[in-house]
Amino acid sequence: MKSAANTIQGVRKGRAKPCDVCRRRKVKCDGNASNSTACSSCKSLKVACTYNGSRDTEGYIKNLELEVQRLKSTLGKVCTVG
Ligand SMILES: [Zn+2]
Ligand SMILES: [Zn+2]
Repeated sequence: MKSAANTIQGVRKGRAKPCDVCRRRKVKCDGNASNSTACSSCKSLKVACTYNGSRDTEGYIKNLELEVQRLKSTLGKVCTVG
């Protein structure tokens, strides 16, 4: 038995990566990472238009890993006591 494969197509054109500011504010970004000009949002806010999101994510994940370790040790104590 083969299940019907539903190929989802559509969102393919103009999948531009939003800059850090727009991503944080969850607004539409008309900037371009390859183009060093600031997007209209950053221009109006007069802030630097940056695309360093990946670095922030790495730090965020490291923080999460530390949090998990802390929670695990806490759980271990609870289990030993309980
Ligand atoms: Zn932007
Ligand atoms: Zn921007």
